Amino acid sequence: MYLLIENACLAMTMDDRGREISDADILVKGGVIQAVGQNLRAGLAPEVAQNLSTHSAKGCLVTPGLVNTHHHLYQTMTRAVPEAQDGLLFGWLKTLYPIWARFGPAEMHSGAVIGLAEMALSGCSLSSDHMYIYPNGARLEDSIEAAQRVGLRFHPTRGAMSIGESNGGLPPDSLVEREADILEDMIRVIDAHHDIREGSMLRVGVAPCSPFSVSRELMRDSAVLARDKGVMMHTHLAENQEDIAYSREKFGCTPGEFARDLGWVGEDVWHAHCVKLVAEDLTLFAATKTGIAHCPCSNCRLGSGIAPVREMLDAGVPVGLGVDGSASNDMGNLIGEARQMMLLQRVKNGADAMSVREALCVATRGGAEVLGRNDCGQIAVGKRADLAIWDLGGIEAAGSWDPAAILLAGPQKVRDLYVEGRHVVKEYQLTTVDLPKAIETQNQLARALMA
Ligand SMILES: [Zn+2]
Repeated sequence: MYLLIENACLAMTMDDRGREISDADILVKGGVIQAVGQNLRAGLAPEVAQNLSTHSAKGCLVTPGLVNTHHHLYQTMTRAVPEAQDGLLFGWLKTLYPIWARFGPAEMHSGAVIGLAEMALSGCSLSSDHMYIYPNGARLEDSIEAAQRVGLRFHPTRGAMSIGESNGGLPPDSLVEREADILEDMIRVIDAHHDIREGSMLRVGVAPCSPFSVSRELMRDSAVLARDKGVMMHTHLAENQEDIAYSREKFGCTPGEFARDLGWVGEDVWHAHCVKLVAEDLTLFAATKTGIAHCPCSNCRLGSGIAPVREMLDAGVPVGLGVDGSASNDMGNLIGEARQMMLLQRVKNGADAMSVREALCVATRGGAEVLGRNDCGQIAVGKRADLAIWDLGGIEAAGSWDPAAILLAGPQKVRDLYVEGRHVVKEYQLTTVDLPKAIETQNQLARALMA
């Protein structure tokens, strides 16, 4: 069966030529884009025309599905916790750790369903996740099953914390694991779930939480493991000034040097935040194609600073966009995040520092490249059919002169979302999960935690 998306006001392809096609049609079969252009229907072969479903995108902008490169899905269960509303990173974490220590599989699963549903409704077709606590029997599968229910392409990472308070780390001892157990479970989840095939819906990575919650040995060992298994590596790096001070005091180096010394640079690595990376670090990251997950709202929420995204892009560092966990955002709206990135770069560097088009490219193709997915993030023949359809007929875009400029005037929710050619969001509604029921479950679990 073929699918023809027809008559889009504009398609922003993010292909190698950066083509923007007006009155665009997109032909899809089996999760793969077969053709992109104008008046495709007129040239269809009879066997295609006889097996065709069509979807009008009249009055809409079509972009590749957005890509989220950093999240902690379980944190949707702890949004807007009063005591954590106004803290810096370390104080914020210390408030939330004891609450997260009471989580189990149900909280992990519910949080992931809600977080991924939010991603889908804001136009995201591919999300990573960084799950770094495993209390009370929680497993990576709690989030994997949620992604399979919601229908998103998913890159979960087996995160970890191993240095508790009694050893000079930040988290309480009750939330850390033995390093041997961590490595064993990393191997287990990679062997069980990692799918390297083109078009994969599920790829697993390894992700020690941060330099201030694991040992240098675990950083090094997990890098060796990841390279042995051929999976990607992810962690938090250089998030704010406290993070820099900890690195200087404990390790006698900057976070960039820390990453280099432990093998945490390369095209199979991406780091979240990097707000405080210095120029030499950016040169190193560019030369090694080490990726960055930029999380502008979280950086604002925690007062961490404005990441040097303009400088990163100019240096040639791969940059993607992330919403970060919903305890530090506290929304999960990826198209809103793209606008925030664009605005922050303008605050820092002037009104011409980042265009709408560049921001949308970072949010789509940029993120796909950071996650090692050259088969996603573009509307081009042979790429996966991950497509976001944005209705320009609503009040937000009324009077707009430029259909591409949705980060200036445009919808904050996607009208339709296709993932691997499947219709996951239809007319603003998820086709896959019963959202009111999922919200009720989430609120029940959150209320129990408040009690
Ligand atoms: Zn994070």
